[in-house]
Amino acid sequence: MKFGIDVGGTTVKIGVVEKNQIIDKFEIPTKKETLFQDICLFLKEYMKKKNIEQIEGIGFGLPGNVIGNYIHNLPNIGLENISLEEAIRPYFPEVKLLAQNDANVAALGEMLYHNEYKNACMLTLGTGVGCGIILNGKIVEGVHGAAGEVGHMIIADDYGFPCSCGLQGCLETVASATGIVRLAKYHYHEYKTKLKNEFTAKDVFDLAKKEDPLCLFVVDRVGYYIAKCLSILAVTVDVEVFYIGGGVSKAGDILIQTIQKYYQKVSHYAVKNVKIEAAKLLNDAGMLGAAGLI
Ligand SMILES: [Zn+2]
Repeated sequence: MKFGIDVGGTTVKIGVVEKNQIIDKFEIPTKKETLFQDICLFLKEYMKKKNIEQIEGIGFGLPGNVIGNYIHNLPNIGLENISLEEAIRPYFPEVKLLAQNDANVAALGEMLYHNEYKNACMLTLGTGVGCGIILNGKIVEGVHGAAGEVGHMIIADDYGFPCSCGLQGCLETVASATGIVRLAKYHYHEYKTKLKNEFTAKDVFDLAKKEDPLCLFVVDRVGYYIAKCLSILAVTVDVEVFYIGGGVSKAGDILIQTIQKYYQKVSHYAVKNVKIEAAKLLNDAGMLGAAGLI
């Protein structure tokens, strides 16, 4: 039995995992001051209640830069420079501990769930754009912990919108939830639309499904930029499948089909048959992948 901990900005998801299946799950609030203490006390209490004496280990998915169990920063939570060992050892002196960036563990979780491929990338489209890369069943971390930071590939430099990272024209500026709204606002007066003054990325997809001209145009552009990113990833890491996850991916078929259409146009012939699928696990991928680190 393992614990898979998915730490988010507002809640911590705690999964009890056996043979790559989540058998029990809980949520506790994310508190900056007592984050790791709260998690450990919860796990201790759970083990006591269930008469569990031994576990295989605890895996963590963390929203930020993590290299080799050292947490450089978690910007959404406001924590930095934490050794996982120092934070957890007082509570679990001998248990195996491993931590990774949350996009990476979500990719691992999705791969373990499908249990079909060993080489996969998962793009997470949410408030930002993240990506986890799995090769031969193992997360690619990179020297700077930046492998898979495709949200900051300069893919949309024709627009050149400024990005939170300091660059201009990053994929995230057009393909994240806020990026999609930004694109729609930019073209608002060029096409007919039923969008009101204030709207969300979900509204854009919902109206695109009803053939709203502006929303169709925006979804087309978003699909194109994502396809461009995938085509670059494909000739870099040459995986079997791309999973598309995160809140924006709930748009469903309309987004996946647009990405597939453009991927066929812009990808190299050797990687044209790579599968592009919607992620299935949604909220559980982080817990399952975190436990999968162990
Ligand atoms: Zn950027």
